[in-house]
Amino acid sequence: MGCRTVLSKRALTRVVRQPDGVQIDPTGKLAGRGAYLHNSRSCWERALKGGLANALKVTLSEADRQMLSEFMATLPEEAVEEG
Ligand SMILES: [Zn+2]
Repeated sequence: MGCRTVLSKRALTRVVRQPDGVQIDPTGKLAGRGAYLHNSRSCWERALKGGLANALKVTLSEADRQMLSEFMATLPEEAVEEG
């Protein structure tokens, strides 16, 4: 997603395009076009500026943005790899 951070897949969260909007998919099992974002606010901020909508080929609705922003607020500023 235009982000140069290299971390294992455990440090990524999948966002999936659904018929009624985008959805966060922590299990990675939802069908649909998906994009992976690092678990960091900096990565999500960048994605919300346009990269995510491009990757998913959707226009983010206000509800989508609100949901994604709320999730983003729970993330650390920079991704950290655990274990
Ligand atoms: Zn990233």
